[in-house]
Formats: sequence, structure tokens, C-alpha cells
Amino acid sequence: MIANNLQQVHERIARACAQAGRPVQSVTLLVVSKTFGPDAVREAVAAGEHRFGENYVLEGIEKITALSDARTASGTALEWHLIGALQSNKTRVVAAHFDWVHSVDRLKIAQRLSEQRPAHLAPLQICLQVNISGESSKSGLRVGEVAEVARAVAALPRVRLRGLMAIPEPAADFDAQRAPHRALRELLARLQAGGLAALDTLSIGMSADLDAAIAEGATIVRVGSAIFGTRRAAPG
Ligand SMILES: *Cc1c(COP(=O)(O)O)cnc(C)c1O
Repeated sequence: MIANNLQQVHERIARACAQAGRPVQSVTLLVVSKTFGPDAVREAVAAGEHRFGENYVLEGIEKITALSDARTASGTALEWHLIGALQSNKTRVVAAHFDWVHSVDRLKIAQRLSEQRPAHLAPLQICLQVNISGESSKSGLRVGEVAEVARAVAALPRVRLRGLMAIPEPAADFDAQRAPHRALRELLARLQAGGLAALDTLSIGMSADLDAAIAEGATIVRVGSAIFGTRRAAPG
């Protein structure tokens, strides 16, 4: 079932890319495995996937450890992305285990990740999470704070700022889904024009809205339930 779902998600990505006039290789699928165990991840690896996203730090590290020997058929090791909230008391273990963090929402977290990234590993790849829908309850930087934080993060030695991430408010129709994604794309363009030309990542789009996100320039779509099915309740 997982392999079949993955094939359908890849077909959906390809259709959305064709419609947007974008090459299919311009969009990366991040397989969101939160709440699913190592066996489900192995099934996705057997189907050729190697990029996985986790929300909860300790659950993620358990899986990273359990799957340290896993390789795709072509020999690629797994790449792990933290996409959930990160508290400062967990930055050290995150810096030691993950390859990417999409959910950096303040400078202090980025500074700690940079200081704590082990010397033998490549710089940690990070995105700033933006509260693009302006909901008071959701995490993420306010749009007006992003440029200043981005400039400071880009100067840190052991993290590499790659771009922006958002979790927009759910919307039912395609045009309503596009609006926040477009706002994030325009914010990224302003950062690029303002001296951060190397930024190349827009982490937007989930099972329900990945088509709209691709239409607005998503470079990483984070997809869970369309691949693994409905999740049981989140831990904690
Ligand atoms: C769970 C989650 C996803 C995947 O959501 P689905 O709707 O299951 O595709 C993507 N991004 C974040 C930040 C998530 O927490």
C-alpha cells in the first residue's frame, strides 16, 4: 500500500509540475513519517525514498538510530528533517542527529544549533518557519521579523540557511490554498533580492494542498497521510 501511495503522490507532483511549467526535479518529496514506526519507513525506503520528516525530536531520534543501516537500492543513506517545534533544551541532540531543521522560529535556536553542530558533520541545513497566515496560535516568525533574523542566521558558521517553511491555515479551494503559498514565495524573493541570493528552498505543501504549493513554487513538499494513511493521535 505504501509503495502504491508513493507512486500516486509522485504522479500528483508530476501533474502539478507540468501544469505549472516546472521540471519535475524542481520539487523534492519529503516523506513525513511521524507516528509511524521503522517498518513503515523501511517500506518507503524499499520503494526508493530516502528523505524523511519527523515532528517530535525524541521519536525522530529513535527512528534515526533504528534505521542507521537502511539504504535505498542505489545505496543512498537516509536524510532526516525535523519539521516540528524545537525547544532550546533539545537543540544539542537535534544538531547531532538531523540533516535539516525546517522549523527554526527564532535566532537563539539557530545560534544554538550552529554552536552544537558536531564538527565531523556537514553544516545543518535550516529553514525559517514563517507564520504566513498570521494566526496568533501558530508558531513561526511574523513576516515583518523574517528579514532581520534571516540575515543573522545566514552569518552563522555551522548552519546553512536554505529558505522558508510555512504551515498555512487549511483552506478548501485551490485559489484560497494558493494565497499564503504565494505570500511566502514573494517573501523569499524579497530576501533573495536583499542580499540572500543563495536561498533556494520553499518548504510548503502537505497532503491536502501540495498541488497549490507547487503552483506557487514549492521546492520541498512534506507529505504524510497521503503516503502512510491516517495517523493515530500524536504522542504527548
Ligand atoms: C504532519 C505534518 C506534515 C504532513 O501532513 P499530511 O497532511 O499528513 O501530509 C507536513 N508538515 C508538518 C509540519 C507536519 O506536522
